[in-house]
Amino acid sequence: MSRSELQTSLQLKDPEHFRSKYINEALNAGLIELTQPDKPKSSKQKYRLTSFGLRTKRVRRMSLEQAFSLEMKIDVTATKADELYGRGQIQSKFAFKCPEPNCNAQVTCANLDKPKSKRKRDPYFVFVSEHNIDCPLKGVNSYGRSPKYGDKTSDEVYVANSIKLNLVAPASKGIGINSNSDEESDTNNLKEKPNNSGTGKRKQQKSKTLSSMVDAFLASDNFAVETPDGLIELKDLFIEIDNQSIDDFSDEFRIYYGKAWINKNDKGYSVRFCNHLRYKNLDTSPSFFISNDLIDQDIYKKFSHEKLEKIANSKPKQIFLASQLGPYKSYKGEFINFKLEGLEYLDYRVLPAKN
Ligand SMILES: [Zn+2]
Repeated sequence: MSRSELQTSLQLKDPEHFRSKYINEALNAGLIELTQPDKPKSSKQKYRLTSFGLRTKRVRRMSLEQAFSLEMKIDVTATKADELYGRGQIQSKFAFKCPEPNCNAQVTCANLDKPKSKRKRDPYFVFVSEHNIDCPLKGVNSYGRSPKYGDKTSDEVYVANSIKLNLVAPASKGIGINSNSDEESDTNNLKEKPNNSGTGKRKQQKSKTLSSMVDAFLASDNFAVETPDGLIELKDLFIEIDNQSIDDFSDEFRIYYGKAWINKNDKGYSVRFCNHLRYKNLDTSPSFFISNDLIDQDIYKKFSHEKLEKIANSKPKQIFLASQLGPYKSYKGEFINFKLEGLEYLDYRVLPAKN
């Protein structure tokens, strides 16, 4: 498409704004590319989606609009679920599943139980467990319309004096998803003051990996962290699993941690926290699963099978799990689970030996 065709299709009026805002950002994000890259100003210049752009488009289009309500036995939108919750006909935000009849992937309706005044976003559906192997919705973005953390492409905004958690694998740097990724050895940057003196240079958001955030937290450091739900102090970003009721969690991005056992089985590794969480009458130790598929798909190469094997089946470790939604009550049984989105959401520390 040419620029004017693109502009018309998006129904945008101002060509200069369109060029700077949409085209440049899509180019920077690696979503589109020039058809004549050696003649950027050519009047015959057109734009096409890159393979990354195509993937992104597919995933975005396939966001989860409806889920099957296990209480009402019908497919509902999140808006409808909100209405039915208000009338008491739906009672649990955890009682939804994949709308495909042959798939039992569990769905949570985030924010459904939050009073309207406390919501930063309207309720939305999120897949919290895996689809059946042949489910046509398998590729749907877990977070529906709200992008998975780290997938942000065009809406990067500089926030002064804050640090962003970087969960994007270093391999993605080239396509500009995160222009200021730092490595795990960046603890010195913690002490740097952001340079806000008006040099006219485009300011770049400082970012840290999960591992650096964990180090900073364990060192009782504190600073503001930018999350998809806004700014939060580092000390409030971390939640120790400690007998809370899961109703009290905020449905916002947090890092949950606690002592946990890691056990290997034939499909992967199960991680079970030592402390409990509660939901209504249920009082149990929450767990999550690291599937062999997740380990094989780990472009980050953060945890290999060998490494996990080494830390499994021995003493409990201090486990840190970054999660958009937090724990959920499984509708299939009396379990409280977390969903691990990828190995980049996971970290651990060896606990100090007891005397
Ligand atoms: Zn499904």
